[in-house]
Parts: sequence; C-alpha cells; structure tokens
Amino acid sequence: MPVTRTFSIIKPDATRRNLTGAVTKMLEDAGLRVIASRRIHMTKDQAEGFYAVHRERPFFSDLVAFMTSGPVVVQALEGEDAVKRNRDIMGATNPADAADGTIRKTFAESIEANSVHGSDSDENAKIEIDYFFKPEEVVG
Ligand code: ADP
Ligand code: MG
Repeated sequence: MPVTRTFSIIKPDATRRNLTGAVTKMLEDAGLRVIASRRIHMTKDQAEGFYAVHRERPFFSDLVAFMTSGPVVVQALEGEDAVKRNRDIMGATNPADAADGTIRKTFAESIEANSVHGSDSDENAKIEIDYFFKPEEVVG
C-alpha cells in the first residue's frame, strides 16, 4: 500500500470534552502519523468554505454553527492508504451505525456532533490540507 495523506478535524464536541489526546491516540494506533496540527476556532467563512459541497443540504447552517461553536484541531495525517485507514477508524457518520472500536462509536454525541472529520478521497485530502496548512507547516 502506498503512503498517502489525509485531512482530519477533531470537532468541537471532542475538544470540549478534552478528547484531543484520546482521539489522536486512536488515529496513531490505527497507523496514522500526525504531520501537521493546529488548534483553531474556525470563522463562519472558513466553515462555510470548507463545507461548501454540503451547501444545499438541510443540515448545512446547523453544521456551520456547530463547527464554529468551539475550538477544533485541524490535522494532516500520513500513512498507508491514509484516506481509507482514517475513514475506517472514524466509523460511520451516524454513531448509531458506527462499528465498535471506532472513534465515532466511542466518542460521538450525535450524527452532527460526531467528533471527527476525515477526507473522503485523495483529491479532497489535498484540497482540505491546502485549505488549512501552508506547505512548510506539513512535515512528514
Ligand atoms: P462524513 O463526515 O462522515 O464524511 P458527510 O460528509 O456526509 O459525513 O457530512 C459532513 C458532516 O455533516 C458530518 O460529519 C456531520 O457532522 C454532519 N451531518 C451529516 N449528515 C447529517 C445529518 N443528517 N444531520 C445533521 N448533521 C449531519
Ligand atoms: Mg464527508
């Protein structure tokens, strides 16, 4: 498997409960390496731009409100088949559907407050990493 990159966000429900380390440990134990990390409070513009693909979805404005409700930790991750590896350890969007041992099954509060974001393709991973990090901030 080639070593690739993906983008992760530890969402406000998780930072509020002081789970940054616990979530990161699950990512690391799954074979992912944190190669960039920053704690930020997203602006409305940043969150709307990041989730622009979901603009027409009924939950869009609630999602933007949630993602700007507290600090998040944005991360670039590296590992073998990183996008799929991260999606596997994250679990299903709705924690009720997530498998045992996944981050969302373990920590998520709801389908919205589901603790983590992960890119869904190599192409989007690059776009999302570039959205939050300058090239020199990503150190593999
Ligand atoms: P994922 O994060 O698993 O890739 P999506 O890209 O479909 O899921 O959705 C982006 C985010 O929007 C989800 O992680 C979740 O926070 C929120 N979301 C998705 N579906 C719903 C929904 N039906 N109701 C409320 N929030 C939702
Ligand atoms: Mg998604």
